[in-house]
Amino acid sequence: MDNKIKTIGVLTSGGDAPGMNAAVRAVTRTAISQGICVKAIYRGYQGLIDGEIKEFTTQDVSGIIQRGGTILKSARCMEFQTPEGRKKAYKTIQKEHIDALVVIGGDGTFTGGRLFAQEYDVPVIGLPGTIDNDLWGTDATIGYDTSLSTITDCIDKLRDTATSHERVFLVEIMGRNAGFLTLNAAIAGGCEAAIIPERKSVPEQIEDAIGNGRRKTKNSSIVLVQEHAVEGGAATVAKMIEKAHPEYSTRVTVLGHLQRGGSPSAYDRILASRMGVAAIYALLDGQRNVMVGIQNDDIVLVPLSKAIHQKKDVKEDAWQALLTLSI
Ligand code: ATP
Repeated sequence: MDNKIKTIGVLTSGGDAPGMNAAVRAVTRTAISQGICVKAIYRGYQGLIDGEIKEFTTQDVSGIIQRGGTILKSARCMEFQTPEGRKKAYKTIQKEHIDALVVIGGDGTFTGGRLFAQEYDVPVIGLPGTIDNDLWGTDATIGYDTSLSTITDCIDKLRDTATSHERVFLVEIMGRNAGFLTLNAAIAGGCEAAIIPERKSVPEQIEDAIGNGRRKTKNSSIVLVQEHAVEGGAATVAKMIEKAHPEYSTRVTVLGHLQRGGSPSAYDRILASRMGVAAIYALLDGQRNVMVGIQNDDIVLVPLSKAIHQKKDVKEDAWQALLTLSI
């Protein structure tokens, strides 16, 4: 055991994700069980710069495992992207006697954490907390499963109303530059198509979607559109469809921040708990600048550099499943 780590800081950063609270709870309780002091940092890297910090006891994380969002708040902090901002953050680290950081967030959070670790020699452990599931080296990220279920539930509701009209419903889905949520929600929702950045051109995907609707003589058509698959998202796709096929009327639904909310699923709570425990044991084991991931249901440690820089592609069989099942 590396006895040098007496105090850790924990923060949540970037987009909030259901299950982040379960991760904070696991990190806090595991650290305290190992005699490590826990300093909770509010509002992500902004709180690290501003010194918005509170020492946590095990009671501070009581009753939060079932709560969505993050009790530590999250923020997008431009200042941390500058050397001056990170210097201020380091001053806080020194002042608070923080020996290591556990950062819960997505690729931006890890990029910042890795840079900080390199500049100031502070061990950083990342927990993948993002609904996007776009980090390489982990099969799942905290929040993805819950978000997928939320989206599927919304699609089911839209289907009820869509079947009453001959319209093409275009539903815009979050996901930064990744199509995991969109593709898998399309499979789960029995959708006619998913328009994602990883696959064919948007016009080609639109033609497939329209073709599927026709072939099936269906009375409703729901197409999911990943927010960044095309500039302007689902609204642009709607215009493209109406131009190429004036016989179709379209309706656009943007799920927006609904996709982030809600109580975390059992899967996300368990994932966050296992990862939070593993983060502390990894630190005690002398690990640094790694992400805790899950592969084949085993906890693994992945260098932050790989988690950020290697591209994780959507599963080809899942893409084929959607194409096959949507005819
Ligand atoms: P999500 O995928 O859910 O959006 P994220 O962690 O990728 O989460 P970002 O907003 O990209 O969210 O990043 C979170 C924070 O990480 C930023 O507000 C910033 O403080 C820090 N960060 C991002 N990129 C960098 C960078 N290149 N250098 C330093 N810090 C960065």
